[in-house]
Amino acid sequence: MHEMSLCESIIGIAEEQASVQHFSKVKSIRLEIGKLSCVQADAMAFAFDAVAKNTILDGARLEIDEVPGKGWCAGCSTEVEINQRYDGCPLCEYYPIEIRQGDAMRIKDMEVE
Ligand SMILES: [Zn+2]
Repeated sequence: MHEMSLCESIIGIAEEQASVQHFSKVKSIRLEIGKLSCVQADAMAFAFDAVAKNTILDGARLEIDEVPGKGWCAGCSTEVEINQRYDGCPLCEYYPIEIRQGDAMRIKDMEVE
């Protein structure tokens, strides 16, 4: 389950921020998860609870925004929405689509104290 190691890296980033910005607790954290990133939101939430124990994120509320997948189709020169990384163009079936959005996960914001 790679969500586990993703959560560990999120906690690593948060702890780094904590020492730079001098906060000691994260009340909530909002993640953006791209639909094409192969990260499952529910697996992420599950892993987060386990990994956050005894860290500055212990008890933090996890919010997840799903970002739709978008790409550029060179076949019909249109920006199209795609649901899977290896999908072709929904309009003209051209493949491959150049992915422009939704293939990553990032921390959008954190509420700290
Ligand atoms: Zn197309």
